[in-house]
Amino acid sequence: MDEKMTPELIREAGKHLIFDPSSDREKQNEGLKMIYEAFALGDSEAAFWFGRFILDGVIEVKGKNDVDNALSLIMSAADRGCIQARAYLNSYCNFRYDKKFKEKAFSGPLVDFDRRRIKINKKGMFTPVDAVLKYENGKNILTLSVNLKFVYLDALPNAEQFEEAIVAGVSAWAGEYTVFGGQQLTVKVVVTRNEQALDNLVIYPFTNSVIAMFDEIKNTVLFKNGKNVFVEAVEQRRSFATHLFGWTVHSVKNIYILSEDGNFDDYTDLMNVAKHEFGHVIGLGDLYCNEKDGLSGVDFGTYDELDCYAVGRKAYNLVMCDHNGPISNNDIEMVIMAFMKNRMQLYQSERFKNKVSEALGRGN
Ligand SMILES: [Zn+2]
Repeated sequence: MDEKMTPELIREAGKHLIFDPSSDREKQNEGLKMIYEAFALGDSEAAFWFGRFILDGVIEVKGKNDVDNALSLIMSAADRGCIQARAYLNSYCNFRYDKKFKEKAFSGPLVDFDRRRIKINKKGMFTPVDAVLKYENGKNILTLSVNLKFVYLDALPNAEQFEEAIVAGVSAWAGEYTVFGGQQLTVKVVVTRNEQALDNLVIYPFTNSVIAMFDEIKNTVLFKNGKNVFVEAVEQRRSFATHLFGWTVHSVKNIYILSEDGNFDDYTDLMNVAKHEFGHVIGLGDLYCNEKDGLSGVDFGTYDELDCYAVGRKAYNLVMCDHNGPISNNDIEMVIMAFMKNRMQLYQSERFKNKVSEALGRGN
């Protein structure tokens, strides 16, 4: 091998040998070896191809959990910034879900699991996120409207790009979903940025002054009693969403967005973090496989529809578990239930109390 061959070049040469239609079996094998070599040298895209070849049956690995191993490889590539790996992982999980939950579609105004019509009309001055469900021209449409107010305690050099990323993350909840046993639902998200005193979802970039502010108040009476998730998040420097005095449709909601390197310029990451945190704002709890932050964890095998998104049985490739993951039908079902029942919907019990959402374990 040439001294100057970087892992990227080795991987690209390997791909060429594999995908060139004129390559014979021997050349393809040589290509696979090069992909493996690049992978061993730490190339993330090579890890993606290696995992994908296992899934596609091109490479046979002796072991019981080929699919789990392959998905773990692809996830590791995705975590290291390989965009192809992320896209493939998301589509693979969605495909697995669709295959398992092909239910008979039925139309008409949206009904819940007991076939009762769902009515949602939450809006007004003290409703930070308005939610209105309408049945129009044979279509069910849920419109979520939110006014974002950005608060900067420190100047942000690329505030405009930051705001765009946050808007994109919130807007990512829009789409077509299948809910409550096969009903189509269109979710629309309307994001505004008007100057107004009330009725905002407030976004803070987690800059030094915000951290200092929390460090100041964390020893005050308000936070003194017991460990507060709020304080923990600040201490551990994570993004988080708050809903003062418990989540209701009307509670005041803030999102604090952390940037790993403090520069607030990783557009994709900021967008995905906002996507996850907005999930909390619209009534969803976190989803972790293991016990964490006083949450009980969700074991693989507990809910069929979540298992379709399990990666290596250690993580769920879903937005409320990994902010890079997709939004599922289940998430949307739970959002509807949150607004319907005016109660946060949980994937796992909190500090071993509170009930999990009734939407779980019921497919789409
Ligand atoms: Zn979270």
